[in-house]
Amino acid sequence: MTDPQKPAATPRKRLFVALMGVTCLLIVGVIYLLWWVPTRGLANIHPDLPRIVGLVFGILSGAALLGTILLVLTTALGKDILFTRFMRGVVIRFLLPVIEFFGNALGISKDTIRQSFIAMNNSLVQSQRLLVQADRVLILLPHCLQLFDCEIKVTGAINKCIRCGRCDIKGLAELAEKYRIDISVATGGTLARKVIIEKRPKLVVAVACERDLTSGIKDCYPLPVIGILNDRPFGPCFNTRVEVEKIDQALRMVLA
Ligand code: SF4
Repeated sequence: MTDPQKPAATPRKRLFVALMGVTCLLIVGVIYLLWWVPTRGLANIHPDLPRIVGLVFGILSGAALLGTILLVLTTALGKDILFTRFMRGVVIRFLLPVIEFFGNALGISKDTIRQSFIAMNNSLVQSQRLLVQADRVLILLPHCLQLFDCEIKVTGAINKCIRCGRCDIKGLAELAEKYRIDISVATGGTLARKVIIEKRPKLVVAVACERDLTSGIKDCYPLPVIGILNDRPFGPCFNTRVEVEKIDQALRMVLA
């Protein structure tokens, strides 16, 4: 588990890329075993069958290797080389659960893998060099960013914040105002989904913890989501913080 007292470390995509490479090699190994073990039996059915099955498995292995190389190059160069949107889907839907499984087996915590996944996802979204109109961007925040003692209910109506500055909602509300962007505070995944369905953004900049960001990115695909981790100086879900500058930076990269 990540130490809740520490600010969220700058997530590294290197770990995810390394785990992706290992997973790819394992997949190729399994494909080879699947071909090699029943080869003799197949030859009894038809002498050409081992060759045909070998060709199919060879193509599958090649696709897995090529996909991994493409993903590594896309994130390293920050450029949309080929099929980046599709590759992001493969990472989210297929590779993430497999990598979480192998990572856990290697003793790497889920949160560390998720941090790295979020960094990888952000890198893929940014490599698409999307330019979105301000009115089609949504900033989505967790309610734990609001000061627990604040009496104003900003969920669903951040404009009610009187900007006293005791929590980061002030800076975030000002940022949204500066760029004229929709901003919402959601109390959970269900409300977040409802907000997205209502506002129909083309891109979401979301702040949350590793678990919520990962599930949000998965649920929203193919909608591009840039995830920013919150800091939890008082433990999870209580008076959390976020660097407004990080959100400003993400917005500057995508605003048309
Ligand atoms: S900045 Fe806004 S949300 Fe935060 S404590 Fe002050 S009034 Fe409440």
